Amino acid sequence: MKSLVLERKDELSLRDFPAIDRVEETLGPRDVRIRLHTVGICGSDVHYYTHGRIGPFVVNEPMILGHEASGTVIETGAEVTTLTVGDRVCMEPGIPDPNSRATRLGMYNIDPAVRFWATPPVHGILRPTCVHPEGFTFKLPDTVSFAEAAMVEPLAVGVHAATKARVKPGDIGVVLGAGPIGLVTALSALAAGCARVYVSDLSEKKLEIAESLSPAITGVAVPGGDLVARVKAETGGWGADVVFEATGSPAAAAQVFEPLAPGGCVVMIGGQPDPIRYDAGAAMVREARVENIFRYAHVFPRCVAMLASGAIDVKPLITRTFAFDDSVRAFEIAASAPPADVKMQIELPQ
Ligand SMILES: [Zn+2]
Repeated sequence: MKSLVLERKDELSLRDFPAIDRVEETLGPRDVRIRLHTVGICGSDVHYYTHGRIGPFVVNEPMILGHEASGTVIETGAEVTTLTVGDRVCMEPGIPDPNSRATRLGMYNIDPAVRFWATPPVHGILRPTCVHPEGFTFKLPDTVSFAEAAMVEPLAVGVHAATKARVKPGDIGVVLGAGPIGLVTALSALAAGCARVYVSDLSEKKLEIAESLSPAITGVAVPGGDLVARVKAETGGWGADVVFEATGSPAAAAQVFEPLAPGGCVVMIGGQPDPIRYDAGAAMVREARVENIFRYAHVFPRCVAMLASGAIDVKPLITRTFAFDDSVRAFEIAASAPPADVKMQIELPQ
């Protein structure tokens, strides 16, 4: 099966990758086989490509990339009841151990045994077909395109973050970082009820994209825009109810409480590979609640429902689409981080 393989750091190839090298190809009774249609390029895929590792996860042998996916069911296991051949679907990429303590506590995303696509040693899905559990495969309404459905995975992070923040109608939000995760977080915060969301970033182009998503999003340039002064001035000196950290930058994390209102909530989203410092004193005087999130737990159906109803529109975030045969070039471009791009996707031949 022709697959996009990360051979080692800085080396990608589009080549045949024998099914025998992947344990998950056998169709179990509660599994479906899926023909992949669209796969988004995630920051984590690019990070494995350019660094060969993310924290403790190291690429020691060739690994297929990709985990943000949609496709079509082409075969169903004997006990599958909710999906049939021909169904258009999106897939949740992390499969926990159903009997683990974390799963039974309702926190399957932090199950240490979770198997997540394109996280060593588990292969991703930039390949023609995959086998996936029925319970982690979600049927799409006709109105949700394959491209939008491949955005459900990153959107799920934003929805999980807004849920953890316990956003209330009329809250004022701040999102640090206008990358794909920052922008889906801003959209999720608005869908959850925020009256206004301030989004800060170094890139003027990214802020332009952010502001184009909704009249309730205000872009604030860093440096220069003075986010804290702006938020305070527009909230009668009170500050934001929720601050989402979506940059992964230690410098941003260090100041995460500054725009926060008393009693507010900070949600740490951006991956921090190294230890960071934040101002615990600034958190204490506000009695700030701090939430940390890792991926998401069972929010795919909510995301699909919001795309279907129009409550969230992710189409403006999809800025470039490549053919599967162009995947290596797509990753080279993604690794250069073009400022005008948010999400790049790859379409597989059907
Ligand atoms: Zn992703």
